[in-house]
This record gives sequence, structure tokens and C-alpha cells, in this order.
Amino acid sequence: MLLTVVTPAYNEAENLPILYERLRAVMQGLGLDWEWIIVDDHSADDTFAVVAEIARRDPRVRGIRLARNSGSHTAVTCGLHQARGDGAVVMAADLQDPPETLPELVAQWRAGAQVVWAVRARREGEKLSTLAFARLFYLLMRHVVGFRDMAASGADFFLLDRRVVDAFRQFRERNISLIALITWMGFRQATVTYTKQARLHGRSGWSLGKKLKLAVDSVTSFTYLPIRIMSCLGFAVAVGGFLYAGYVIISALTSRPLPGWSSLMAAVLVLGGIQMLMLGVLGEYLWRALDEARGRPRYLIEVTVSRAELDGEQGGDSSTS
Ligand code: UDP
Ligand code: MG
Repeated sequence: MLLTVVTPAYNEAENLPILYERLRAVMQGLGLDWEWIIVDDHSADDTFAVVAEIARRDPRVRGIRLARNSGSHTAVTCGLHQARGDGAVVMAADLQDPPETLPELVAQWRAGAQVVWAVRARREGEKLSTLAFARLFYLLMRHVVGFRDMAASGADFFLLDRRVVDAFRQFRERNISLIALITWMGFRQATVTYTKQARLHGRSGWSLGKKLKLAVDSVTSFTYLPIRIMSCLGFAVAVGGFLYAGYVIISALTSRPLPGWSSLMAAVLVLGGIQMLMLGVLGEYLWRALDEARGRPRYLIEVTVSRAELDGEQGGDSSTS
């Protein structure tokens, strides 16, 4: 059995050597063959030099550097496409997902699960706003988008069986949350819990803007509910408008016309606001449709590194997927 570990890394030069040592120790205990694919998401520091150094020492390690910063979900997608294992584990580079949880994931996998989520029971050293945003996001996913089985506290550390990795290759979507997609895919899913550690070095690469994009992606990829709500609201407002117009006409005919432009202004502003909001929602779906229709490659590989390449074969050519 070969287990692939996929790690996206963005400015993680300090963390990777420590993760390597801990991963190696855990893997030795597991008695599995393993490989480690590190996808450098176009870091600004010397992450890739560190990756190359680890790859030079250990033939099980391969490094891929993306040509531009594409976000961790895209980096993970690239890593999963390269995975050769009978199973693949996705794990962050910052040691927030401790490698020591791996044996539990593998135990569930050996017991027959095809997707094993490591669900964070507790998160150490996170800001209150981060926790609140995560809560809100998973609430939305479970109750609005309808992913009842998604872990309430979230999971970004998981193991996939080969069959799931192969199935995943068939999806060509770009604007998508990987976690939501894998949840949606089905298969036999199981969970284990762990305590998400505080980040060892560096800063989180997830800005509020990126999180918002992911949240909107997660909703628009799986539900048309926002558009449905727009239609219903538009219908209700139209019915209200017609009734009110009837009332105005009848009042004008039967004696006293209704005075006042301020009520008119209020109606115009309210309706204008609702319409703009609705156009925005439509726009969110529309630009995603356009973006998917362009069919651009999801990621571009700048350079790859592995012991095999260093030992002679020419490496470092660029390719796309
Ligand atoms: N990451 C990435 N590209 C990015 C941002 C982050 O590949 O643009 C990697 C990062 O190096 C880490 C993982 O994705 O291994 C999780 O990111 P991070 O720790 O920043 O997120 P958080 O733990 O705050 O959710
Ligand atoms: Mg992190």
C-alpha cells in the first residue's frame, strides 16, 4: 500500500523541515510506503528551495511550484492529480494539522471508509473573528446549501481512497470549494476528531476576501436557492405593487387622491435596492459561468523537483492541466 501525502505550501519555508521530520517519524510507525507531494503555491519566500533540499535528500518527496498564487484548494487539486498512492492525505504545511493524527485516519481507511475527515474538535490560537466566520460558513453550508453531514466545526484535513482521487479527476470546475465538492461526491465517508494546533511559524494566507470568495463559491456551486429567492421576492413585490396601484386608482376615482411624494421615494428606493441586490446575485452566477466557459487551465506548473529529476533526467519543464 502506498499512501500519498499532499501539502499545499505558501510561504512555509520554516515549517516544512519540521513537518518532514514529524511526518517521517509517523510514517515509520505506520509501516506503509509513502510519498510526499508538496505544492508550492508560488511563495514569495524560499519555500521552494527548502522543498528542493528535502527532495534531494529523500526520493519519496516531490516538489511542484505553481506559476502563480492560486489558493490552497487549487494547489491541493494539483497535488491530487499527481498522487500515485492507493490513498491520499491532504495536510497543511503549517503543522496546524498534526501528522500524529494520521494513524487514526489510516485506521478508518483500512476499516473500509473511502473518505476520512479529520474534524477539528478544538482550534488553538485562532482569532475570535476567524472562529465566528467559520461557524457562520458551516451553518450556511449545512442548513442553506443542504450539506447536513458536513462537520459543524469544519474539516480541511482528510484522507481519500484511490477511487475517490480518480473520481475527483473527472471534475473540471474552477470556482469551487474542494471540501464541499468531496462532501457532495458521496462514497463511504467517516470522521475522526483532532485538535487543530496553533500555527507554528508565519501567518495564515486566508484573507477575508479569499474566505468570502470561497463562501460564495460554495453556495453558487451547489444551489440555485439565491436565484429562487430572488424570483419569489420579485413576484411578491410585484403583486404588492399592483394591489397598491389599484388602491391608488380607486382612491382617485372615489373622491380624495393620495398626497405625498415621500412615500413614492421610499418605494422607489426600496425597489431600486432590491433590484440591485438581485442583479448582484445573478452576476455572481453569471461570471462563474463565463469563467468556466473559458476553460482556462486551473493551474500552471512553473517547475518540478524530485530526486529522479536531480539524478539526471531533465526536470523543470513547464506543463499545465
Ligand atoms: N496555502 C496555499 N495558498 C494560499 C494560502 C495558503 O497553498 O494562497 C496553504 C498554506 O501554506 C497552508 C494551507 O494552505 O499549508 C492552509 O493555509 P493557512 O494555514 O494559511 O489557512 P488556515 O489554517 O488559516 O485556514
Ligand atoms: Mg493554517
